[in-house]
Amino acid sequence: MTKMYPFEPAEAPPEYRGIPRIDPVLCIGCGACANACPPNAILRIDDPESGMRRIVLDVGRCIRCARCEEVCPTGAARLTAEFEAATDDRRDHVEVVELKLARCRNCGRYTHYTERQVAKVLSLIPRGILDFDRVREKLPLCSECKLKLTVLNATKFGEGE
Ligand code: SF4
Ligand code: SF4
Repeated sequence: MTKMYPFEPAEAPPEYRGIPRIDPVLCIGCGACANACPPNAILRIDDPESGMRRIVLDVGRCIRCARCEEVCPTGAARLTAEFEAATDDRRDHVEVVELKLARCRNCGRYTHYTERQVAKVLSLIPRGILDFDRVREKLPLCSECKLKLTVLNATKFGEGE
């Protein structure tokens, strides 16, 4: 049956790959979608001054390949059935999810992980196999403190401790 679109709303078929969206509640800011996105429609940008990470989705660059949905570990990135992307303001295509970076347990500087990433990792540690409290005490460390700790442990090992 002929539809009077655009005067009547039209629905996309279930298999349609429409505009992607990122759920700000589910997103942990891991950046896997940004790494996988062929046209760089998603960017991961860290601001070490304010301690924020921004996941920036530019729908105007998206080719609807669905790689973001495939790699997202939390189900936050999803292609929707939306297809109407026309706008007279380019900024309408850009969505930003902001997440807090975690501070290093040792020196207090911002790390390269978000607080939600750390919480996710901790939630995946099997209880009873690893010393959970000890792992939690050490997470997260910034790259510099991690390197220092590795060198310290290697030195101790070399001294036979
Ligand atoms: S659907 Fe493909 S092009 Fe679009 S944001 Fe996701 S990974 Fe990037
Ligand atoms: S892959 Fe998923 S959880 Fe990770 S930054 Fe992208 S949307 Fe967020």
